Amino acid sequence: MVSRSKMMNFLGKVGVVAQTSIHLLPNHIEMGKDNLQFNSKTIHGGQHPDKGYGAVMPPVYLTSTYAQSTPGGHMGYEYSRTHNPTRTALEAALASIEDGTHGFCFGSGMAAIDAVIKLLSPGDEVISTNDLYGGSYRIFTKIFEDFGIGFHFVDMQDPANVAAKINAKTKLIWVETPTNPMMNVVDIEAMHKLVADKDILLAVDNTFASPYLQQPLTMGADIVMHSATKYLGGHSDVILGALVVRDAALAERLSFIQNASGAVCGPLDAFLVLRGIKTLHVRMQRHCENGEKIAHFLADHPKVAKVYWPGFPTHPNHEVAKRQMNGFGGMISFVLGDDSLEKATQTVEQLQLFTLAESLGGVESLAGHPASMTHASIPKAEREKSGVVDGLIRLSVGIEDSDDLIEDLKQALG
Ligand SMILES: *Cc1c(COP(=O)(O)O)cnc(C)c1O
Repeated sequence: MVSRSKMMNFLGKVGVVAQTSIHLLPNHIEMGKDNLQFNSKTIHGGQHPDKGYGAVMPPVYLTSTYAQSTPGGHMGYEYSRTHNPTRTALEAALASIEDGTHGFCFGSGMAAIDAVIKLLSPGDEVISTNDLYGGSYRIFTKIFEDFGIGFHFVDMQDPANVAAKINAKTKLIWVETPTNPMMNVVDIEAMHKLVADKDILLAVDNTFASPYLQQPLTMGADIVMHSATKYLGGHSDVILGALVVRDAALAERLSFIQNASGAVCGPLDAFLVLRGIKTLHVRMQRHCENGEKIAHFLADHPKVAKVYWPGFPTHPNHEVAKRQMNGFGGMISFVLGDDSLEKATQTVEQLQLFTLAESLGGVESLAGHPASMTHASIPKAEREKSGVVDGLIRLSVGIEDSDDLIEDLKQALG
């Protein structure tokens, strides 16, 4: 596990003083209810009835500021960029379900990623995967490279590829697993072994798996990142990002960045994600069941050439997935036998129950065409190297009746 001193060394080395006037709220630390099973933590983790009137759900505190009885005399809240009680409730819930100690919520997943990279300094290097979420690739290469941070993109399925890029400048390993849209699985414990004795942070984008399927902090990660827009919110009605850590010095620095940069989420958005989390375990169970049925339907279909889903024993990382995940999820990619751009376009347009749309993780099923949608910002040559060909279709399988979903795929493929 990561020691406190690791983060202290890290911050010291990059010349950052972890000095901050931002107090970490007691709610972050005294979460209680940590002995509960996951399926109870989604509902109760870090939560307590509202102190004012006992409301079971945290009120949406639509306020920018808080009355003080005397200068500095407040009840833990001064200004809502710094802290807001609804956001605090969500941050505590996230810390609980990710088995961390501190959660931090942002206006989007990208804002959460932005905060992590701001832990670094010019000259530092990051190693990440070569089939990264398009938006992450974009912020790394189009924004942070200009600030003097170096990025290496490697195939992380083989830890040796990561080891080969580690040098004295390496400060962060950025993992995404399962990857988007190729459903490769990266061995988080193997990544941890590579950095355990070094001043290198390990961050995992856990958006695709959700904490129901895997909890990276328990496998040695220092930072878990979420686009809560996806499975955590679960209802396609909010954009929100989150980070969870269990190291006090790291928490203090991220709290400082969160307040200083100010890319926080609003209280209503925090409320929506908090409500989403309460059914995460029930939704995920159905996403997994439907995902499995549809993966098999596609694999047996004569017009489908290839299906990418980590639940197949033939999937190259199936053993790692079985070990580190509690299920295989509802994200599936596939390539048609006729892998032309035209055929893929025609197929996604033909779908009726699956909506053609960006995003994933909601109760409704979505279909996407990565090459022209989510991954359009990655150059074609770069994209195809990792398998994102023009004929690739990605499904986010929702929680509708699986027979209806299969009927829809049947007619679209037919
Ligand atoms: C959507 C997504 C993001 C970005 O999150 P936003 O909430 O859209 O800003 C980052 N990583 C992954 C894997 C995603 O799917």
